[in-house]
Amino acid sequence: MNYQQIIDKIYNEVKPLFGNGKVADYIPALANVNPKQFGIAIATTDGKVYGTGDYQTKFSIQSISKVFTLTMVMHHYDEELWECVGREPSGSPFNSLVQLEYEHGIPRNPFINAGALVITDRLMNLYPRPKESILNFIREMADSPDIYFDQSVARSELECADRNMALGYFMKSFGNIDNAMESLIDVYCNQCSVTMTCEELAKSFMYLVNHGVNPYTGQRILSVSKSKRLNALMLTCGFYDESGDFAFRVGMPGKSGVGGGIVAIIPGKLSIAVWSPELDKHGNSYMGIETLERFTTDIGKSIF
Ligand code: GLN
Repeated sequence: MNYQQIIDKIYNEVKPLFGNGKVADYIPALANVNPKQFGIAIATTDGKVYGTGDYQTKFSIQSISKVFTLTMVMHHYDEELWECVGREPSGSPFNSLVQLEYEHGIPRNPFINAGALVITDRLMNLYPRPKESILNFIREMADSPDIYFDQSVARSELECADRNMALGYFMKSFGNIDNAMESLIDVYCNQCSVTMTCEELAKSFMYLVNHGVNPYTGQRILSVSKSKRLNALMLTCGFYDESGDFAFRVGMPGKSGVGGGIVAIIPGKLSIAVWSPELDKHGNSYMGIETLERFTTDIGKSIF
């Protein structure tokens, strides 16, 4: 398979579609990003990396960070984790509050904001220096030491965190958050502010392609069963209220972020990261989904 040729072709087909989405505007640090950027990178199980366009430009990974924090927590927890967070698609926007009251403060899944806050809260119980541990974990998965928080994004997120605070306090009233809200929101906003390139992101999901083993260190990160579960969660919940549509159009488990990044995988084969900051109405990269739909169509492979 000539992946370089395939992504170059798709890049040229999708590039004229700039202008169909809208850059995230809930914080100034993201609203000011140049919308006309677009990159694609692929990492494969034989250790190769392919890239095109702005694939070496850093951007805010936002909710893609939820995959890393969930991995760190799943590593330590077994069945008991699923008592404090569910594993059903929510069918609601990522920052929605509606289901939480009648579901007694148990978020539907770990990828909506409420669920991610519960996961980060448990991570803080496990790691005394959570921000440092998150950064180190991501660096190891991406096989790159050059990964940092973007302080201006983190500050901006913290200033506009009212809704995430509300989600947190509401769950705390049901006893589903242990840590002080200010410290929880600080860790959460920092994890969302991590900046990475498409190349680093594609590499950083290779442990999920590789059934739980980090191919760059040989270290087992998750058991085969937990790796399967995490991939299943990405397939059913990775794109919020667009998860069904993404599975229908693309056919790969993946995760998006409002920075415009998407990473998706085919277990045993490859990981692909796409970035373009213009979002559709569900908060997922418009050109990212277009690219991935064309990719699985062109290579004639998906997980199905
Ligand atoms: N920082 C964002 C938030 O919590 C992340 C959301 C996202 O990427 N979908 O609202």
